Amino acid sequence: MATLGIPQNTIAVLQKYGFHAQKKFGQNFLIDTSVLERIVRAAEITEEDCVLEIGPGIGTMTQYLAEQAREVVAVEIDKALIPILNDTLSAYENVTIINEDILKLDIGRIAEEKNEGRPIKVVANLPYYITTPIIMQLLESGIPLKSITIMVQKEVADRMQSGPGTKDYGALSLAVQYYAKPEIVAYVPPNCFLPRPTVGSSVIRLTRYTEPPVYAEDEEFLFQVIRASFNQRRKTLANGLSNARELGISREKAAEVIAQMGLSSTVRGESFSLEQFAELANRLKA
Ligand code: SAM
Repeated sequence: MATLGIPQNTIAVLQKYGFHAQKKFGQNFLIDTSVLERIVRAAEITEEDCVLEIGPGIGTMTQYLAEQAREVVAVEIDKALIPILNDTLSAYENVTIINEDILKLDIGRIAEEKNEGRPIKVVANLPYYITTPIIMQLLESGIPLKSITIMVQKEVADRMQSGPGTKDYGALSLAVQYYAKPEIVAYVPPNCFLPRPTVGSSVIRLTRYTEPPVYAEDEEFLFQVIRASFNQRRKTLANGLSNARELGISREKAAEVIAQMGLSSTVRGESFSLEQFAELANRLKA
């Protein structure tokens, strides 16, 4: 039975080990069983799945995952949590605990060893100080991945899901949407965590595409173009592109390509869809 999500039980475990949550590791433990059930449901875990959990903390969500999945690999950076995890997860034979920084781990090897190279699912209540690097590493590294179901700061979830012309739309929206379909599943208020974070959170599921939804001749160049377009939000797209030295594009060339696309010279990057960015990058490269 998974029971750690009840506040008294979390408090009892923390007291038993004299453990104090560390801000530097983004430690906010979930203490709401309905939120835990919601996350696990959103991840659509079956008994065939191999799940990678990033930052298991004291093992609260890991217990839920272990009951649904065939195999769970839980990667925790804080070595002080390892004896606690060995205790709270002792009843589960399908859990492997790894004491490592997720950004330094060869996740492809885990998929290979634990899931014969087939796509794994990632589920996590992420440490907020490194949310974006973790997500981008998971998406860009090309590891076999079915989906990523994660708790993140509400604003970050909004940015990942938003589209052209909205205030939250930017380089992160496009980077995520190039690799995966984002769906916000739930809003989670601060009182569902111990200690309480200062910000609200959302659960978002990113379902990995087998093929990107647009064709980019040079992915790296596409993302350089996207970043340059949002670096100077208040400038026109042509100015933003020509101001980005690493692209090596003149103002005239940028204006010419934008005109070829049938768009006004005053157009801004924030109104561009992923398809338009791909077309723009392909034309600039040609
Ligand atoms: N999963 C637990 C829960 O929901 O109660 C804890 C979530 S807490 C928001 C984030 C967890 O990630 C902490 O246990 C923290 O120590 C761990 N963590 C922080 N940075 C990490 C990293 N680079 N690699 C692996 N784990 C990390």
